[in-house]
Amino acid sequence: MLYLFNTLTRQKEKFVPLSEGEVKIYTCGPTVYDRVHIGNLRTFMFEDILRRYLQYKGFKVIQTMNITDIDDKTIKGALASGKSLKEYTQHYTQLFFIDIDTLHIEHAEFYPHATDHIDEMIVLIKKLLDHNLAYESKGSIYYRISAFPDYGKLSHLESKELIDGFRIDSDEYEKESMKDFALWKISKEGEPSWETEIGKGRPGWHIECSVMAMKYLGETFDIHAGGVDLIFPHHENEIAQSEGATGKQFVRYWLHSEHLIVDSEKMSKSKGNFYTATDIIEKGTDPLTLRFLLMSVHYRKQLNFTSSSLVQAREAVERLKNFALRLTTEHFREGHSAEKIISLCQNAKLHFEEAMDDDLNISLALASVFELVRHCNIIADANELTKGDATLILNYLAQFDKVFGIIFIEKQEIPEQEILALIEERIQARKDKQYKKADELRDYLLMKGIILEDTKTSTRWKRKLNAELPKEEL
Ligand SMILES: [Zn+2]
Repeated sequence: MLYLFNTLTRQKEKFVPLSEGEVKIYTCGPTVYDRVHIGNLRTFMFEDILRRYLQYKGFKVIQTMNITDIDDKTIKGALASGKSLKEYTQHYTQLFFIDIDTLHIEHAEFYPHATDHIDEMIVLIKKLLDHNLAYESKGSIYYRISAFPDYGKLSHLESKELIDGFRIDSDEYEKESMKDFALWKISKEGEPSWETEIGKGRPGWHIECSVMAMKYLGETFDIHAGGVDLIFPHHENEIAQSEGATGKQFVRYWLHSEHLIVDSEKMSKSKGNFYTATDIIEKGTDPLTLRFLLMSVHYRKQLNFTSSSLVQAREAVERLKNFALRLTTEHFREGHSAEKIISLCQNAKLHFEEAMDDDLNISLALASVFELVRHCNIIADANELTKGDATLILNYLAQFDKVFGIIFIEKQEIPEQEILALIEERIQARKDKQYKKADELRDYLLMKGIILEDTKTSTRWKRKLNAELPKEEL
C-alpha cells in the first residue's frame, strides 16, 4: 500500500484515489520566459518518478501540467526582445520540451496554456464575485481573503506570517487588505490584454492553475504537486479560488519537493551558480547521469548538487548499465534459474516496493537494486550464473527501470542529415547576425549529444562519447 506525505495534514497518508485504478494529478508547469533551471527540473523529475511509480502499481495516470505563458516575466521578456508574447513564449515552450525529453521525463496527458483559457478564468472570477469572495477596485479584481476562513490551511502559517509574506511583493495599494491577491489586472499601456465582461486586462498568475486543474481533472482530484516554494502563496491561493467557487475539496493529496542547492548554497544568477540542463551537459555530463542525480535523493530532502555528486551519479549509472550489458552479452552456461537467484530477485523487488510505498523513498529503492547487482556480480564472477538466471534478473531490472528510466534507455541518436541541416541553418543565422538563434541551435545539437567546433573556414562536429568525464569543476 502506497503512503504519501500530504502537506495539508502534515503526515503520511494511505493513498486511495477517488476513482479506482485511476489517478488524476496536477503539476505546476514552467513559466516560459527563460530556460528552466536544474532546480525546476528536480521538481519535474520528482513528478516523473511519482507518475512512473503510480503506473508501476497499475494505476492509469492522468496528469495535467500548465504552461504559464502570461505573467509579469513573460511580458517583460517579450517586450525586451521585440517579439510578440506568443512568439516569445512559444520559443521557450519548445526549449522546455527539449529539456524534459533530454532527461527522459515522461510527458503529461495535457499541457494547457494559460492564454488559451481566458474565458474559463472569467467564468471563475465571476463566480467568486457572486460569492462575495472577490471585489473590484480601480479596474482590477482581487480575492477577499478575510471571507475565506480556511485560508492558510495548507501552509499552516499564522495570520501575521501571512501578512508579512504578502508585504514582500505587495505594491498594489488599492486592495482592501494587504493579504488580498489579484485575480484580474487592469490593462496597462504596452501590455497584452483581453477585452472581457469584467473589463480590459489580463489574469493574475494563481487563477490559471485553479481553472486548468478543474477543467482537465474535475473540481476535486487526487494529487497536486510542485516545489515547496509554491506552497505559499500560490497553492494556498489555488485552494481559496477553487474551494471558494465550488464549496468542494479541491485537492486530496498535496505533495511538495524540496529545493535543489548547489555546493550547499542557494542557486542564484548573481552568485554564478545557476545552471540549466544545457550548462551541465555542455561540461561533459551525460543526460542520464543528470537524470540519475536529480531523481536519486528523496524528494522531501534538499538535493545538494556538487561536482562530486555528479561523479557518483555517473558511476551509479555505469554500474547499472554495465550489469545489464553483462547479462545480455556474456556467455552463461545453459540452465534454468536457480532458487538462490529467484529469492535474491524477489527480495530486491520486495524492498524496492517497500521503499517506494513509503512516500517514494527512492534512495532506499535504489539501494535494494544495487544490492541485487552486487550479489549477482559475485555469482557471475564465480561462473555460477546460468542463462535462465540472466533472463530472470533482466526481467526484474526491466520492472525497476520502469520507475528509474535509466538502464534500458537508449541514447536518442540524431541522424547525420539532420545535423548537417542544422549546422547549415546555424551558419546562415550567423551570417544574418542572429547570434542568439545560432547559439540556440548549438545548444540544441549539444542536448542531442553533438559537439560543434568552429574553425576559420567551417564548422566541424562530433558525437559526444558515452561516459566522458566532467571537464572542469562545477
Ligand atoms: Zn500552479
